Amino acid sequence: MSALPDFLPWQRELAQQWLNQRERFAHAWLLHGLPGIGKKQFALAAAASLLCEQPANGLACGTCPACLWVAGGNHPDLRRIRPDAVAQEEGVAVEEDTSVSTVKKTPSRDIRVEQLRALGSWFNTATHRGGWRVAVLYPARAMNMIAANALLKVLEEPPEHTVFLLVADAPDRLLPTLVSRCRRLPLPVPDPAQSLAWLQAEQVSRADEWLAAAGGAPLLAKALSLSNDSPCPDWLQQLTKGLAGSATSDIGPLADQIEKLAPDAWIDSLQRLFVDILLAASEAQVRYYPALESHINTIAAQASRQHLGDTARWLTQQRRIAGHPLNAKLFTHSALQRVALACNPVRQP
Ligand SMILES: [Zn+2]
Repeated sequence: MSALPDFLPWQRELAQQWLNQRERFAHAWLLHGLPGIGKKQFALAAAASLLCEQPANGLACGTCPACLWVAGGNHPDLRRIRPDAVAQEEGVAVEEDTSVSTVKKTPSRDIRVEQLRALGSWFNTATHRGGWRVAVLYPARAMNMIAANALLKVLEEPPEHTVFLLVADAPDRLLPTLVSRCRRLPLPVPDPAQSLAWLQAEQVSRADEWLAAAGGAPLLAKALSLSNDSPCPDWLQQLTKGLAGSATSDIGPLADQIEKLAPDAWIDSLQRLFVDILLAASEAQVRYYPALESHINTIAAQASRQHLGDTARWLTQQRRIAGHPLNAKLFTHSALQRVALACNPVRQP
């Protein structure tokens, strides 16, 4: 960490309005919105702005001592509460708990209750020049019931001068009593023009296709572009073309291809394809794969809406358990078989 977290271009205006009411600022905020729109970055930039000693229009100045501490990653009044695995992905060395075992454990994907209990001593320390103390917690769904209850206890008797910023994709998956203790700040999906400008500045080529594949979420679009060869994978193009064609296509070779991919990657693609087919079946515009629109329209017109819906739900279930298929070959073949059956023309009586 060597840079001051800054708001993304589409966040600045909302951030200024929100941070300018800081005299009557709530002590706990739930920042929520779709994955891949920059919620974590918003929360960290907000923390920097709240800690800044001479904010300009509500936002961090970048030059005061507090801003320099935040940029250096060592402001005493800022805490990030996130799973060890996330900290490690951010490039932070995670302290090893040597008291338990000498065996190297994989870092936790949960926010542990100990992390919340450890805040007690922090609350009892005076803040730098009597300013704010800011805790940024992400993702909120990484708290199990015990951790969530520990946080709830804190929020029921909030420590002075302390602001909690919780980041979540979907508030309805969090402990309701916890959500009710927070003011909500919904973060919108940015305007496509702003997203495209940002992606182009980030040197993402075919930005419009990646943005579509990410459902309009620019950070997700960039992540997809870094981990995939094409916004619409070759196998998916071939599959869709085959499913829209009159001849029964042989899915065997395609199943062999996707067997080599991570299951969640190809199931994600199929899920998006089915969203598009169902949109087309309702005469709405396709969202994820505009390049395949004509084939998608053909499938939508020929297939049974019920079979499509059933298979879309089945894909959602598979996505949840996709980590470890017992037999990858069997799984890919049966999944594509199922997809092909759902997309087949309804037989006329
Ligand atoms: Zn500053």
